[in-house]
Parts: sequence; structure tokens; C-alpha cells
Amino acid sequence: MTNATACMPNYRLVENARLDARNTFGVPARASVLVEVADAAALPELFAYAMLRDGPVLVLGGGSNLLFAGDPSGAVLSLGAQSIAILDDDGDRTVVRADAGVEWHAFVLWTLGHGLSGLENLALIPGTVGAAPIQNIGAYGVEVRERVHRVEAFDRVAGQPVRLDAEACDFAYRDSVFKRNPERYVVTAVEFVLGRAPDLRLEYAGLADELRNMGIDITSSKPPRPSQVAEAVCRIRRRKLPDPAMLGNAGSFFKNPIVDAAIAQDLQRAHPVLPMFRTAIESERKLSAAWMIDACGWKGHREGDAGVAASHALVLVNHGSATGVQLLDLARRIAVSVHERFGVMLEPEPRIIGATW
Ligand SMILES: Cc1cc2nc3c(=O)[nH]c(=O)nc-3n(C[C@H](O)[C@H](O)[C@H](O)COP(=O)(O)OP(=O)(O)OC[C@H]3O[C@@H](n4cnc5c(N)ncnc54)[C@H](O)[C@@H]3O)c2cc1C
Repeated sequence: MTNATACMPNYRLVENARLDARNTFGVPARASVLVEVADAAALPELFAYAMLRDGPVLVLGGGSNLLFAGDPSGAVLSLGAQSIAILDDDGDRTVVRADAGVEWHAFVLWTLGHGLSGLENLALIPGTVGAAPIQNIGAYGVEVRERVHRVEAFDRVAGQPVRLDAEACDFAYRDSVFKRNPERYVVTAVEFVLGRAPDLRLEYAGLADELRNMGIDITSSKPPRPSQVAEAVCRIRRRKLPDPAMLGNAGSFFKNPIVDAAIAQDLQRAHPVLPMFRTAIESERKLSAAWMIDACGWKGHREGDAGVAASHALVLVNHGSATGVQLLDLARRIAVSVHERFGVMLEPEPRIIGATW
């Protein structure tokens, strides 16, 4: 049973709240207390209460990068504020601020509708604006760190609101200061720098082909519009990734491992077709986790309702009533088999709640 226990103007407390519909794996979980915050201005008052000040707090966005392998041990906080505003516009470069509770894809569409370029490659990523900087979301050759101006957060250590510029966010591949300190920051809003002139990134495999399939000649003197790039990204994503509304999943379950270039070279000798990519660091290579998982025979594998998507080896799926524990157990065995065959340790991309990896 779910009980509403208190309603204040800026927040609502719900006891014993079900989280099944609040995570895209669709696995069962409960929050002993769910705090629904309508206005981030309420956070200093809320974090003065002992339960929130001293205990663990899980900030929950759309639940699309989480696996509940147990119930969260403390309160769960959900931010609802929805405003979007242009803070600065010199006709070329704009600064746009969006509240943490805004749905990410809706925000991308808003920017495109306002003639702004920069987020088109990140279209259709599920979740909220507030979660975007947490793991520095990335897709189709763009990471959100390239567009983040500042992140507004409530700092639980300082006990007050703070603003972090992009450097202070210490972004890395699927990582940031926020992901490394999950109990410290509640992201309340994000400011982005976006251009009025298109700054298109079409190098990522398949993107240019998709635009051509849409009848857009990318070699002509008239480049595609950012909205057309977003449309191409959406078309590829809909083909490749299962829709969580139809099949529970959290997107890529594993990060692509980054290894020393010398190790990558040895691996390439043993497995000449293993895809690997350069990173910004000369001495490193990023390996395709999907290829290694597929090579170990896991793609399309199913055990009861826990499985690996038939269309994408990186995506773990819930066919119906799998639990988080069953999905975690499957994920661990996939990682062990990849390690045994390739000597490479996979790391999960989603945050695992109620268990350790
Ligand atoms: C089908 C599918 C495709 C996906 N594709 C991609 C992709 O292409 N690229 C990519 O990078 N990711 C992808 N993801 C993962 C996911 O969509 C992103 O990581 C997204 O940013 C998570 O947003 P969320 O609001 O659902 O966060 P949640 O899952 O609710 O939370 C994720 C983490 O962020 C923390 N968090 C959330 N909001 C806040 C906040 N306001 N303040 C502090 N901490 C917070 C949570 O505590 C948790 O640790 C995909 C997921 C799915 C299901």
C-alpha cells in the first residue's frame, strides 16, 4: 500500500512508495519515503531534517540508468520543476537553462524548435535534464560535457546551493564528479551553451547514411538542418534499441572498456576484428563491449524473464517479471565470461541500488 504522509507547498512525502513504474527495467522496488520536490528552493529546508541530512538519499530521475537489485536504503528524492529559459543570447551563442525535472528528449526538441544547435545527436536519450551531467550522457559522437556551461546543484556537504562550471564537473567518459559522489550533489538545473549557427557532427558511423536514406544530400552546399540530424538519430535509435515501454531495459548495461594501447594491440592480434577506437588520450584504446559479449554467445540469450536483447548485445532486458537480482546475476556472469575470454573487466554503466557490483 502507498500512503501520502505530508503535503507542503513545495514538496510531498509519500511513505512506502512503489518504484516499479519509476525505473525503465520495470523491476519491483519500494522507497520507504519518496520525497517529490516541486521547487528546488525547498531543498535547504528538506535537508535540514535529520532523515535527509544524515541518511542516504537516492535522487531519482526517470530511472533509466538504474538497476534496483534491492530497495534503496534511505529516502528517494524526485525533482519535478519544469522550466526552461534562455538566459543569454548574443545572436550567435546562447545560454539555456533547464530545470532538472524536464524530460531530456523534450528539452532537445525545445532547443531545436528555438533554432538552437548542439544537442541534436543526443536526441531520444531517455531520462531527465538533471541526470544528463551525472554520467555525461553521450551518443552519436557527442557528449553532453561539450555543451554544459554550468550545473546548479544542492551540495549536501556544504548544505547550500552551488554552481559548478564544466571544469568543476570533471567530466569523463560516462563519468563526472556527480557520479563519483552520488551522496553529495542534487542537480537542480543545468545551463547549456548552444549555437544559433549549426555545428553539426556527422562523422559517427551510420549517421550520414541515415541522412542519405532520408533523401538529404550531405555533400551539397546546403547542410542538413539540426532537426534533420535529430530525426536521423531517432530513426537509428528506434531500430537498434528496445523501447523501455515495450521491453524493460536501461540502454547499454556495460561501459566500453578503456585499456592501454599495448593491451589493445595484443588483443587485436588475437582477435583481428575486435572493434577498438582511439580516445582523447594517445596511450588508450576503447574496446567494443557489445562485440565481446556477442562473441561470448550472449546476444539474444534468455533465462526466464531476464535476458540480453536480440538486437543489441549491450542491452540487458526484462521480458516481464525478472527481478533486479536476476538481471544483476546475469550481468555478473556475462562480465565473468568476457573476462575469461578477453582478460578485460567490464563495468556496469547504470547505478546498481541495493547490491554491489
Ligand atoms: C533505451 C535507453 C537508451 C539509452 N541510451 C543512452 C545513450 O545513448 N547515452 C547515454 O549516455 N545514456 C543512455 N541511456 C541511459 C540513461 O538514459 C541516461 O543515463 C539518462 O541520463 C538517465 O536519466 P534518468 O533521469 O533516467 O536518471 P536515473 O536513472 O533516474 O538516475 C541515474 C543516476 O543519476 C542520478 N541522478 C538522477 N537525477 C539526478 C539529479 N537531479 N541530481 C543528482 N543525481 C541524479 C541517480 O541518483 C542515478 O545515480 C539509455 C537508457 C535507455 C533506457
